[in-house]
Amino acid sequence: MSTIAENIAKVGARIREAAQASQRNLADIGLLAVSKTKPADAIREAHAAGLRDFGENYLQEALEKQAALSDLALIWHFIGPIQSNKTRPIAEHFDWVHSVDRLKIAQRLSDQRPAHLAPLNICLQVNVSAEDSKSGCSPEELPELARAVSALPNLKLRGLMAIPEPTDDVAAQHAAFARLRQLRDDLALDLDTLSMGMSHDLEAAIAEGATWVRIGTALFGARDYGQPTH
Ligand SMILES: *Cc1c(COP(=O)(O)O)cnc(C)c1O
Repeated sequence: MSTIAENIAKVGARIREAAQASQRNLADIGLLAVSKTKPADAIREAHAAGLRDFGENYLQEALEKQAALSDLALIWHFIGPIQSNKTRPIAEHFDWVHSVDRLKIAQRLSDQRPAHLAPLNICLQVNVSAEDSKSGCSPEELPELARAVSALPNLKLRGLMAIPEPTDDVAAQHAAFARLRQLRDDLALDLDTLSMGMSHDLEAAIAEGATWVRIGTALFGARDYGQPTH
């Protein structure tokens, strides 16, 4: 077994155990493989081991890998910060966007989504840690943003995403993820998605209702930003 296949098996076991511990249905928890900075071959290997959904943060890097992997049926998720002049290729080349945090970006994605493609699946990124430096809309801004986005024709608002402040304090992990779930439920928009949980905190996220866990390091190893690929 290759290292990536071994890692997928280990992450799969963590997800299964977390689902069991919180009596959740395994089928309701998706594994999104975060492949930023990793080569196309690593994605090919993960696909061969059974993964289909891949998350990328950097547009140019993602487009290059998509071209190199066009022989595979992959589902692409954009999970990084979005500049408004980059929305067109995102609307054209992705199935999901997890990191929408303002209406202008959502409007452009809807306007630019090609008519022959299904509506673009959208998660609104919410800042649940109240850190000024983090992206994401504030919980206060969320209801108005969610209502406006849910009315856009070529988008399908699926739910919420968060990247809480990293912490080893398990209770704090649970509190942040529970906050996101509560915000989702309070919207009362029938949203089926909570994109939350990364390599170090997927157990807490699953316990609090995650439907996508976004896993990079635990699948592909540590990232090396010394040689940027974007
Ligand atoms: C990099 C990244 C991840 C993966 O984080 P790991 O700790 O490597 O699992 C998940 N979500 C987002 C938005 C990321 O940028």
